Amino acid sequence: MTVVNMKDSDSISKDTRLYLVPTPIGNLEDMTLRAIRILKEVDLILAEDTRTSGRLLNHFEIETPMQSYHMHNEHKRVDSIITRLKTGDRIALISDAGTPGISDPGFLLARACIEQDIELECLPGPTAFVPALVNSGFPCDRFVFEGFLPVKKGRQTRLELLAKETRTLVLYESPHKLVKTLTQAGQVFGEDRMISVSRELTKLYEETLRGTVKEIREHFEIHPPKGEIVIVIKGRSDKKR
Ligand code: SAM
Repeated sequence: MTVVNMKDSDSISKDTRLYLVPTPIGNLEDMTLRAIRILKEVDLILAEDTRTSGRLLNHFEIETPMQSYHMHNEHKRVDSIITRLKTGDRIALISDAGTPGISDPGFLLARACIEQDIELECLPGPTAFVPALVNSGFPCDRFVFEGFLPVKKGRQTRLELLAKETRTLVLYESPHKLVKTLTQAGQVFGEDRMISVSRELTKLYEETLRGTVKEIREHFEIHPPKGEIVIVIKGRSDKKR
C-alpha cells in the first residue's frame, strides 16, 4: 500500500521528489501562486519547449535553470533525471501548457519515480479537458478522457469501441482535423448525437458550441476552426434528447 503524506508545512520539503507543475492553457492569470513558488524554489525545471516556457518564466520572474524534456528525448532522459533526483536535486516538470502527463510528456518519468521510491507531487492547476467537460452541460459525474484519437491506423476502430459508451466522452483535436473527426463521429455515434466543442479556452476568442454532430460539423464546414479544440460527446442514451 502507498501512503500519501499530507505536508504540514507549506514550504518545499528537502525530501527527494518530482513536482509536476501545471501551467496556463492560454491565460497567464491561471498560474497558481504555488506553481510560481515551486518553480522558483526547485534546482531545475524540465520543460517541453524551453523557448515557450522561457516566456512564461520571464513573466513570473522565475530564474531557475531549464532543460528540455519532450516526447523525442524523454526515454533517453529518464535515467539521468532519476540520478539527479536521488542526489537531492529538486526538479519540476512543466509542459507547454496545462498539466504534464495529460496528452503531454510526464507519464514515463512519473512511473520511473514511483518505481524508484521517489515522491511525486502533482500540483492542481490548468488543464483543457475539465473546463470543456463542465462547459458542455453533459453529465460530468462520470466521463471518459480519450485524449487524441490515433492519427491514422486504429482511428475508426477506436471510435467504434466508444460507440456504446454511456459516459460523456472527451477528446482533444487539432483544428485541421475537426471536420474529419466530426464526419467520422456522425458515422459512428449517429448524426443526432449531442456534442459540445470548446475552442480557445481561457483565451480572447474562447467559444463553446453545443448541438448535434451534424449541426456542429456544418457550422465548422462554413467557418473553418482555428486554435485549440476539445470535443465533448454525450454518452449513449436510450432516451430521446
Ligand atoms: N497538457 C494539456 C492539458 O492539460 O490539457 C494538453 C496538451 S495537448 C498537447 C494540446 C491539446 O489540448 C490541444 O490540441 C487541445 O485539444 C487541448 N487544449 C490545450 N489548450 C487548449 C485551449 N486553450 N482550448 C481548447 N483546447 C485546448
